Amino acid sequence: MRTVLRELTAAARSATVSRNIVRAASTSSGSSTTPASPDAGSQQSTGRTTHFGFRTIPEEEKETLVGSVFSSVASKYDVMNDTMSLGIHRLWKDDFVSSLLPRLPASRHTHPNAASLSAPNPTFKCLDVAGGTGDIALRILDRAREKFGSRDIEVEIVDLNPEMLDEGRKRVAKTLYYNTPQIAFTHGNAQSLPAHIEDNSIDLYTIAFGIRNCTSLPAVLSEAYRVLKPGGKIGVLEFGKVSNPLFREVYRQWSFQFIPIMGKVLAGDSESYQYLVESIERFPSQPEFAQLVRDAGFQTGQMREGKGGAWTDYTGGIATAWTGVKA
Ligand code: SAM
Repeated sequence: MRTVLRELTAAARSATVSRNIVRAASTSSGSSTTPASPDAGSQQSTGRTTHFGFRTIPEEEKETLVGSVFSSVASKYDVMNDTMSLGIHRLWKDDFVSSLLPRLPASRHTHPNAASLSAPNPTFKCLDVAGGTGDIALRILDRAREKFGSRDIEVEIVDLNPEMLDEGRKRVAKTLYYNTPQIAFTHGNAQSLPAHIEDNSIDLYTIAFGIRNCTSLPAVLSEAYRVLKPGGKIGVLEFGKVSNPLFREVYRQWSFQFIPIMGKVLAGDSESYQYLVESIERFPSQPEFAQLVRDAGFQTGQMREGKGGAWTDYTGGIATAWTGVKA
């Protein structure tokens, strides 16, 4: 039975990649008016390779392929997230955001002695990269408002995929942040942030379930370091490695057997979800990624999990939050 399942998975995997490549090739053939990547068109072959799920591909193809995955899943992204994680991703994201915003200065809008505050607080600037449909950005704004009564905080969402941004805009249109300067959407690449985001200008940089899709993790981290103010914080939420061997095997079976099938049933697309589970497998372990955060120049906790450590595991390491501070 296990062998049959393994063979089915392998067959689905090779079908996946060829279909995605065909789809990506037709996207880049010129029929689309919006490039999958802000850099698309200027990319030349570097001769270097990277991975796309379990496949090794030329580096310059990855963004187009990732773009095709998220274009395909965008309209069902939120529903699929809830189904695949049984809703638990919400708890991970809640904790991630509250750990990054332990406090905020009193708001000039809501402080009882606002009139006597000599100088208004500068706006707290957040950048949510690979922000997709706005899950993290909206949590940041809600947390600031509900816990600290602050609306002197702005989040700019940067994402490579126009369809994901459109879904995010629709969501924000139903909130009280709609048409306020508190939230903005920008089409852009984590590896080379849009030019208007200046050096040393950001208080909090977040990237949730996005960095594993990027071609170069060091390039993303180095951009984050560049735009953060000294003392500014980075928070990366991503799938980690499950530490318990038995739980790891159960989780692996769930991911590879169940998630692509759910993708097919709910979103009519098993291939993109096959890529998502493969990309999770390929992502570095918790200490390996913590080292990359340090290599980018950030100060982190000690090289271990938990309080005082460089990362925090959720649900046995299915998801992990890494944090660092720009010195
Ligand atoms: N952060 C959201 C969340 O937690 O629900 C969305 C995560 S979704 C799994 C990954 C997002 O990363 C997609 O919206 C995709 O378009 C975006 N993405 C992938 N590569 C990117 C890149 N190089 N730069 C910016 N965004 C990227």
